Amino acid sequence: MRVHDREEEVTMLKRCPKDGTYTLTAACPKCSEKTLTPHPPKYSVPDKLAVYRRKAKYPELEATK
Ligand SMILES: [Zn+2]
Repeated sequence: MRVHDREEEVTMLKRCPKDGTYTLTAACPKCSEKTLTPHPPKYSVPDKLAVYRRKAKYPELEATK
């Protein structure tokens, strides 16, 4: 799904488990430790899905835009 890809891009902020440095890279710029995603994208997916559920349920809302 395209929207999911975009969502991942936005929330790709990662955190070094060693020194807590936030970065967008897969490795910490300070200590080269492998970074982790503190808030996996899937946690924000339910909100997005709710929007699509609404659109699917009321297609006329989308049509009148
Ligand atoms: Zn680090």
